[in-house]
Order: sequence, then C-alpha cells, then structure tokens
Amino acid sequence: GRLLGDRYEIVEKIGGGGMALVYKAKCKLLNRYVAIKVLRTEFINNEEFINKFRRESQAAASLSHPNIVNIYDVGVEGDIYYIVMEYVKGKTLKELIREKGRLSYEETIDIAIQIARALSHAHKNHIVHRDIKPHNILVSDDGRIKVTDFGIAKAATTSTVTNTSNVIGSVHYFSPEQARGGYTNEKSDIYSLGIVMYEMVTGRVPFEGDSPISVAIKHIQEDIVTPRQFVKTIPESLEKIILKCVEKDQSLRYDSAEELLKDLEKAKELKDGSYVEINNY
Ligand code: ATP
Ligand code: MG
Ligand code: MG
Repeated sequence: GRLLGDRYEIVEKIGGGGMALVYKAKCKLLNRYVAIKVLRTEFINNEEFINKFRRESQAAASLSHPNIVNIYDVGVEGDIYYIVMEYVKGKTLKELIREKGRLSYEETIDIAIQIARALSHAHKNHIVHRDIKPHNILVSDDGRIKVTDFGIAKAATTSTVTNTSNVIGSVHYFSPEQARGGYTNEKSDIYSLGIVMYEMVTGRVPFEGDSPISVAIKHIQEDIVTPRQFVKTIPESLEKIILKCVEKDQSLRYDSAEELLKDLEKAKELKDGSYVEINNY
C-alpha cells in the first residue's frame, strides 16, 4: 500500500542539502510531528547515492542517544527513498551562529559537550560521522543538541578513504586526512568538532579560500590563527581544547571523544567568574 501517504501528512519543506530534501510531516496515527528525509529525485537511478542513503539510515538507526536524531523508519515507495526521523523543533547551529555573530564561552562549551557525547556514543558503536559541521547540528528550542545527517558515516572498523566528489560542501570542516582523501577515523570527527568550536567562539571558520581545493590545502599545511588572536577574551583553557582538537598530526589530537569530554567538563567548572576576571585586570 501507500505507506507514506497513508501514514504521514506533509506539512512543509524544512531543509535540503546536496543529497536530499527534508520535510516536516505529521504521523497521523501517533499524532506527532516527524521529519522525513527523501533522496533527491535526480539521484534515484544512481546506485552510489542509493547505497549512501541506505548506509546513512543504517548508521543512524544503530544508535540511540539523546544527542543523536532518532530514526523511526526507512523505506522505498516507488521511486521515493525515505527516512523517517525525530522532528527537532529549533534551528541548525549554523543559523544560531549567524544570528548571534558568535556564541558565549559558556554556550560553546555546553554545545560542544553535547556533540562530544554524541560522538563518544557513535564511536563506541564503531561509527564515524565524517560530516560534522554546524548545518548538521540541530539546536532544539529548549537548548538540546541533536546531531543529524549520517550521510557519509562509515563503520569505523575499517578506515575508509574519503571520496571528496560528493561532499565538497563540508571542506571547511575537513580534517587534513580527509582533505588529502586519505584514511579517516574517529579522530577526523574530533578535528571537525574543533573547527565547529572555533567557529562558535570566533564567528568564523579558520580556513577559507576561493575554491574547495584551496581550503583543503590550508587544512593540510597552513598554521591556524589561534582563536584568541580574534577574540582576546576567550579563556585559555578553552583555546587549548580547541587547538588540541585541530592538531594536523592525529597523534597530537585527543585520543577519543571521551578524553575531549573530560577537558570540556573541566572547562565548564572553571567558568564561574574565574577567567572572566583575569581579563579585566
Ligand atoms: P548535506 O548537504 O549536509 O549532506 P543532506 O542533504 O544530507 O545535507 P540533512 O543535513 O540531513 O540533508 O538535512 C538538511 C537540513 O534539513 C538540515 O540542515 C536541517 O536544517 C533540516 N533537518 C534535517 N533533519 C532534521 C530534523 N530531524 N528535524 C528538523 N530539521 C531537520
Ligand atoms: Mg546536512
Ligand atoms: Mg548529508
């Protein structure tokens, strides 16, 4: 039967990236809103994209965590490939940063902790997200973070070579190994989260350029301008954490999201006044 049409009522289009369109819909039976991600019609004859879409739903569905968007259902109906998931009422982190210019250190740490928890859970389940960027991080109206879009996620058991041709949009958040088209692993997600944290506190990404290639090359070889050179009041403890995430050499980066989480939680405890005052002397 026509499951999609029988069960869901489309309310509006809420987003769309390179690969798919996302709609807000109402599940008639359960009387709740859901988000339905549908593979763009130009890709329905493209086996590579169909496989990617299938992998996305499998990767995301194997995870159950408060900071990861919940998957309810997947299916194919005629030429419609769809994923039904939890609807997050709110905005993307990209929109939040754009609105505010940059975020406070408290808010940055708070958001980073929630993303690190999501990554820690995914990595424990041997899934590397590989596309961590503010557009893929949803901020609910009550301040909860939900990571979405496991579109290029891979099982972490075998390191995988990046195929940059379809994911060019994320190059600002690419780790050097991703930019090289080399092997990615859990530490690649940590690098991307470091870039996201950099953007939250400074309002800008560290590497920009005229073409994706020029940005990729900067991730590989250009020294990063430290966040405090843009915003002097950024606490040293937070800058240290960001810089350890974006080390070009994987062996100098945090070993795990868990380890990063510990430092973030320490920095959160520090926040009450101590470092704000230092900058006023
Ligand atoms: P990309 O080009 O980043 O790969 P995509 O085509 O894979 O994008 P998504 O990132 O999954 O698509 O979704 C696109 C947009 O739709 C998101 O940036 C967000 O604005 C919105 N969106 C996605 N999932 C949800 C959800 N569960 N609830 C609310 N909005 C969502
Ligand atoms: Mg996306
Ligand atoms: Mg995607």
